[in-house]
Amino acid sequence: MDHFQYRDGILHVEDIPLPRIAEEVGTPVYVYSRATLERHAQTFRDGLKDVPKKHLAFAIKCNPNLGVLRVLARQGYGADVVSGGELERALAAGMAAEDIVFSGVGKTRAELALGLDRGIGQFNIEHEPEGIALAEIAVQKEMTARAVLRVNPDVDAGTHAKISTGKADNKFGVGIDVAPEIFGRLAGLPGLQLRGVALHIGSQLTSLAPLEAAFERVGRLVADLRAAGHSITHVDLGGGLGVRYREGDNPPTPAEYGAMVARVTKDWDVTLMFEPGRVIAGNTGVLLTEVLWVKPGATNPFVVVDAAMNDLTRPALYDAHHDFDAVKRSGDTMTASIVGPVCETGDTFARDREIDTVAPGDLAVFRTAGAYGATMASTYNSRSLVPEVLVDGDRYAIVADRIAAKTIMAAERVPDWLD
Ligand SMILES: *Cc1c(COP(=O)(O)O)cnc(C)c1O
Repeated sequence: MDHFQYRDGILHVEDIPLPRIAEEVGTPVYVYSRATLERHAQTFRDGLKDVPKKHLAFAIKCNPNLGVLRVLARQGYGADVVSGGELERALAAGMAAEDIVFSGVGKTRAELALGLDRGIGQFNIEHEPEGIALAEIAVQKEMTARAVLRVNPDVDAGTHAKISTGKADNKFGVGIDVAPEIFGRLAGLPGLQLRGVALHIGSQLTSLAPLEAAFERVGRLVADLRAAGHSITHVDLGGGLGVRYREGDNPPTPAEYGAMVARVTKDWDVTLMFEPGRVIAGNTGVLLTEVLWVKPGATNPFVVVDAAMNDLTRPALYDAHHDFDAVKRSGDTMTASIVGPVCETGDTFARDREIDTVAPGDLAVFRTAGAYGATMASTYNSRSLVPEVLVDGDRYAIVADRIAAKTIMAAERVPDWLD
């Protein structure tokens, strides 16, 4: 069941026609579907039905909106966080401290201390000095930090280079070859309960093969660590499952992923931890925009929309594709490039693409914008920070305000000595 449907020729999110949101909230605006979020959360969990002991932590960096997080908290999801700010958000959204996993390659000592003070469930340690620092802080506080060691399994995830994280030359984790010695040294530290290992090889993975290869390597590491006398009770398999951005994309389903995981890990006897992000949130949102102008180009026209690279940065950052559909379809198509108002050629959502015919004043959406969308927005070109709306059946709420350029300007000042 898709909750983004045309009814009487007009695109709806659940029971809300998008022109109503455009009129009442303005554009550009992100619009999320609660029912879709819940369905994805449930589908991912169902996919893991053959995994006996599991923990699900939504990777909140992909969509940290408090309303979105509350929906997932009610679905029993914890949070994978990568900063102190995300940690506070997860708690504010109602996620239980013990269900929070703290990842990230550059945690500060203050952030490690915050995690201990808040009583989070697990720290994913990225390298030996971080583990030593965490142990020291925990001892000072007379606490014990539950932790796992993130390893870099050196596999090619087959995704865009900027979102690959599990190759030996990526910045994440410790090399799997040196993991046993580092684990051995950290496991002996007071203040630290080192209970397992973690990995996360990248995002928007469209094949299970690199995940399976990585999991097999980690399975051998777990056996080696146990042979060395360590107690391994938790393995964090990270996130990374891709979603469909365009026709022809065929990412593995959560059921296929879950079946592979259950098969590869069947003898591990650990609690498996998961950090899905995009697969939960990606297809739960659209970016609603208005066409400002249709401008002739050297070959095809430019459709200038009121959303820009500062609102949805994935095309500029990763050459990503987002489907573009008119909210009210005429049935005709045109070939055009879709661009935003920002003064950069990189502010291009699509080049020479066949799209619904649109004219100034028409509304349109960029699809699959629920993950790595609003959260990566900026105010570049002194544009407003894009708002977010959550739809629930026939009602909706503005779950993040549009922050006006003048509000951002109010936080700046000209020093006296420039008078
Ligand atoms: C980004 C990230 C995730 C989520 O990745 P998705 O591709 O969105 O599922 C999970 N774990 C860690 C450590 C991450 O950095």
